[in-house]
Amino acid sequence: MTGRLSLDVAIIGGGTAGCAAALHLARRGLSVALFERRTVGSQASGVNFGGVREQGRDFAELPLSRRSRRIWDELPALIGSDGEFMATGHLKLARDEDQMAVLEAFATGAADYGLAVERITGNRLRADYPWLGPKVIGATLCRSDGQANPRIVAPGFGQAARRAGAQVFEHEAVRHATRDAGGFRIETEAGRQVTAATLINVAGAWGATVAGWFGDAVPIAPRSPSMQVTEPLPYRVKVNVGVVGGDVYARQTPRGNVIFGGGQGWNDMATITSRAGETEVMAAMRRLTGILPWAGGAHVIRTWSGIEGFTPDDLPVLGSSVTTPGLLHAFGFSGHGFQLGPAVGEVLAELVLTGRSETPLAPFSIERFGGVLAASA
Ligand SMILES: Cc1cc2nc3c(=O)[nH]c(=O)nc-3n(C[C@H](O)[C@H](O)[C@H](O)COP(=O)(O)OP(=O)(O)OC[C@H]3O[C@@H](n4cnc5c(N)ncnc54)[C@H](O)[C@@H]3O)c2cc1C
Repeated sequence: MTGRLSLDVAIIGGGTAGCAAALHLARRGLSVALFERRTVGSQASGVNFGGVREQGRDFAELPLSRRSRRIWDELPALIGSDGEFMATGHLKLARDEDQMAVLEAFATGAADYGLAVERITGNRLRADYPWLGPKVIGATLCRSDGQANPRIVAPGFGQAARRAGAQVFEHEAVRHATRDAGGFRIETEAGRQVTAATLINVAGAWGATVAGWFGDAVPIAPRSPSMQVTEPLPYRVKVNVGVVGGDVYARQTPRGNVIFGGGQGWNDMATITSRAGETEVMAAMRRLTGILPWAGGAHVIRTWSGIEGFTPDDLPVLGSSVTTPGLLHAFGFSGHGFQLGPAVGEVLAELVLTGRSETPLAPFSIERFGGVLAASA
């Protein structure tokens, strides 16, 4: 396939962030094309745990996360699907007093952002959540948090973007991109030559590679959270559950399967392969039965992982390039970008259209890493 395209905006990456950006830009009448190496939502956006939570985030992320949470409620109107989002609440558990202090501190600080987080201890903990194991000594509940089906969210945004007029090219990797006085020149593996006034880099774990084409240096580590799902068990856990420190997290589908994660698996960036870690699978099962003892002995029917870019401070890069006018980055979501994706798309569209965002982005500036590479040819 060959061809030439001249666009207002080109987008590299078809995860939730890229598809949401394409949707908003196309709705505003811009000519937009998105290039995805595999299929829309086939990487982190489609294989994650499905947690949609504000609780436990770095406070710097809360304004963006709060904005995204509002959009999760509006998904049916925005993309024609609710993504199976359910506001089940997120219950974060403490297994000792130090962890309880962490939960208390978050609950207090979150109030400044208008996020309600309830402390739950003692008899109420046992009465409301009788399925918790005795190692759990307390918890905090954020009722507005929840869970969704990652398999359908990014494709939902992708389909909505297409309906709004964006061109979404799947199985078409971007080989390289440069910028000159005429704008961005983008070449795909299929041989397509594209020019665009603006380029958006939402390439997930490969975001630093794309940034590097323009001399923007970001220290990204590709990691692969280890995920598992059990056979159906009696439906008990209606909230999304995590622990302080994140060494295990779980949710149960109404059909009864317990989806849980914890620890890191492995990946091979060259072949784009990821797997749950052999030892992590057993370790996460042990930690799961520490908080949900009745799940002990359940058959695990599938394990999997994905590839996600982690930054040194676990905050994303979201905003303009240091080196290249018209280049926007949004990547490095460090294991918690599924909840943020809908707002990231809106923010990117705002930046393209107005050069600024109503959401504070300073903590996500690429400049915090301070590095500029020698631009590649
Ligand atoms: C196993 C796992 C569990 C997680 N659990 C949660 C959770 O419960 N809650 C939460 O909020 N977050 C979670 N996350 C994190 C979340 O999934 C990601 O932060 C988020 O999906 C990132 O979205 P994205 O659109 O930025 O990136 P991706 O979904 O990774 O999309 C980037 C896309 O860019 C494409 N691409 C890369 N290079 C090129 C190129 N040169 N040309 C064309 N296309 C290219 C890739 O193929 C990919 O599809 C988890 C992640 C993983 C891996």
